[in-house]
Amino acid sequence: MFDVAKFSRSFADNILNEPNNQTMKLLKLWMLPLLLLPIFSVAQRNVNAIIDTVETPNGAAILYKNFTWEYLQNEPVLMSQDEDSTGLFSNQWVNSQIFAYRINVDSIHDTLIVLTSNDRVFSMPIYGKLFRGFTYSHKGLDIKLNKGDSVKAAFDGVVRYAKYNRGGFGNLVIIRHYNGLETYYGHLSKIMVKVNEVVKAGEYIALGGSTGRSRGPHLHFEVRYKDIPLDPLRVIDYDSQKLISNTFPITKRVFYPNDYVANALIIRIKSGDTVGKLARKYHTSVKEICAMNKIKQTTTLRVGRSIRVR
Ligand SMILES: [Zn+2]
Repeated sequence: MFDVAKFSRSFADNILNEPNNQTMKLLKLWMLPLLLLPIFSVAQRNVNAIIDTVETPNGAAILYKNFTWEYLQNEPVLMSQDEDSTGLFSNQWVNSQIFAYRINVDSIHDTLIVLTSNDRVFSMPIYGKLFRGFTYSHKGLDIKLNKGDSVKAAFDGVVRYAKYNRGGFGNLVIIRHYNGLETYYGHLSKIMVKVNEVVKAGEYIALGGSTGRSRGPHLHFEVRYKDIPLDPLRVIDYDSQKLISNTFPITKRVFYPNDYVANALIIRIKSGDTVGKLARKYHTSVKEICAMNKIKQTTTLRVGRSIRVR
């Protein structure tokens, strides 16, 4: 969303303070009533005749016959040098593999990221029953959908990966966003974007499905920072389908499941305990216990050892 007040001001400044230009003089007269009018919805583009386009400090704007205006939304082809001054879309830019950074969580420095801006918004990829959340062994959200439902990009960005993945994701789209996060969309039935394509938040990128390791149509949605997954519900308030906050502090803590501290349960191994038994007893899975404790399924549990089961 752009700032209408700011735009009007800069528009006025731009046009009214340009004394030596004939076009501007004409526009100046034309603009005066416009500036006094409330701004109308941008949805009228196809209804109204276009009078002219004008360059403004914020880009080209279209002027309509009924005294409304809107920015000219050029289809973005490439980002400007300015937008990629940090090398976000050129460094660690890999189209063939799902992970691009291949770094350890310990090498991530604390930082504050700004998720959206005036003209870069958030959009919920799809809304449906949330039936599985972020845990040690499940790095995203599982959202129920019907095969063929449209899946949208969460933020503006560039498609980094768009193909079938054999690791379980099935048809997978990965988008790298201007805010530094990447989002993953798995089990898709159809991919509608190509790698290196620029996408806007809310734009349809795929159709949902059940490809890969999936037991029924759903979207597997992940949010990652430099490959490291974090609980999307730290960023998104699911029920309102909005961001919890516009800024998001990256610290090592955010890469733990949200309930890491509150729900922790550590027990001592007794004779006869196996990971399978513990998983059943504590209503979790073998995979989850192994991931939490960084052990293998085949690891022998020494009696007296402490192990985290929740
Ligand atoms: Zn999943």
